[in-house]
Amino acid sequence: MTTPTEHWTREQLADIRTRVERFIDDIVIPQEPAPGQTLDLATRDQLRVAAQEAGIFAPHVPQRWGGLGLPISHWPEIFEAVGRSPIGPVVLNCMAPDEGNMHMLSEIATEEQKRKYLSPLASGETSSCFGMTEPHPGAGSDPSQLQTLARREAGQWVIHGEKRYSSGANHAGFMIVMAKTEPHDDPASAGATMFIVSMDAPGVSVPRQIDTIDRTIGGGHPHVVLDEVRVEEDDVLGEPHQGFRYAQVRLGPARLTHCMRWLGLATRAQEIALQRANEREIFDAKLSEQGIAQVMIADSEIDIETSRSIIARTARLLEDDPRAGSRLSSIAKVHCSEAVHRIIDRAVQLCGGDGVSMDLPLAQYLNEVRPFRIYDGSSETHRWAIARRAAHRQRQNAMHAVGTDQ
Ligand SMILES: Cc1cc2nc3c(=O)[nH]c(=O)nc-3n(C[C@H](O)[C@H](O)[C@H](O)COP(=O)(O)OP(=O)(O)OC[C@H]3O[C@@H](n4cnc5c(N)ncnc54)[C@H](O)[C@@H]3O)c2cc1C
Repeated sequence: MTTPTEHWTREQLADIRTRVERFIDDIVIPQEPAPGQTLDLATRDQLRVAAQEAGIFAPHVPQRWGGLGLPISHWPEIFEAVGRSPIGPVVLNCMAPDEGNMHMLSEIATEEQKRKYLSPLASGETSSCFGMTEPHPGAGSDPSQLQTLARREAGQWVIHGEKRYSSGANHAGFMIVMAKTEPHDDPASAGATMFIVSMDAPGVSVPRQIDTIDRTIGGGHPHVVLDEVRVEEDDVLGEPHQGFRYAQVRLGPARLTHCMRWLGLATRAQEIALQRANEREIFDAKLSEQGIAQVMIADSEIDIETSRSIIARTARLLEDDPRAGSRLSSIAKVHCSEAVHRIIDRAVQLCGGDGVSMDLPLAQYLNEVRPFRIYDGSSETHRWAIARRAAHRQRQNAMHAVGTDQ
């Protein structure tokens, strides 16, 4: 986590939030690509320079590595403000997968690795991707199905396997690769290692772009082949065989920052719907005064506020007790990924035909948030884990009660 020495006063935080909101409204939103189009790299780079000049770039990265150094408990309102534009996160360099990778590097990497990878990532000089998911029957919802292998050979590691849905791989300078490392003949083994692999390394190729419904940010979610890729011992991220533990270090905060950013987009959708509902008159009354429309508007307000509350609570917990925070982030992820989808879907409905057209951005917003119910753990995987933890808690409590009765 960001070190407590990077202390922020209430006034400083309010100032950053105001500056971020103004920057998004005045500088970023006017440069958004048309609905259904992708942000071009020249505009992205020009906006990134403006964000750096405005002193709001990489808000989550420790100051030592070039960011603002905001502690995680202060990320929610900043990330929500950034997420009001679908291109805001990439402009401020706090988008997935780089943001999660920066967090993991700052927590786990050696000083040398931080200099080599975290520093240029934080400054926007390079970008990264994360390779966990594989073609079937490999890792997806169940990471223990990992098929990519890494073996030691003549003082190096040799990685062999395939990854898919590696977001940003088309533009990335390096990939953090999850590979199985011990013992390969035991399918139940949880041993896996994370490696930092240059996308230019011999044996790395990107043979296929996978076309998904989200469009706004380039870089895609491609298929990546790792064919006998050789890396050095120094390219192991953290300790060997600790990959699954490190994945949790990354995922707890990473799935919560997705909630923050997508909540920002959902609040923008609600603003568009409210403006329409206040202007449009049908059946002799404004839409915003018609009961059934009011139910939709109110339900979205409730979804916004409940999402904000669970995000804020989880962020505080992630700072104070990362394991408990990671568990709560699973519940927050299910709630927020489904809530933002409901909010944007209601906004589409309130805007009628325009809602599903490309005259308004709402249909594209739906396409941007829909995959969030699948990546970073699908709603079903999380519900399965949440139910198992709840049942386990009851068993533990029952055993404890029996123990204290005796
Ligand atoms: C836009 C996008 C970006 C992505 N970016 C990345 C990335 O950068 N890096 C990366 O490694 N991966 C990435 N992914 C991959 C993503 O993490 C996987 O798609 C996800 O883990 C699901 O794996 P799968 O697609 O193999 O589906 P499967 O594992 O085949 O699961 C299919 C379905 O099974 C159901 N299911 C899952 N668990 C249970 C359960 N316990 N009980 C009942 N039903 C269940 C769910 O409905 C799930 O959707 C991305 C995916 C998308 C769509």
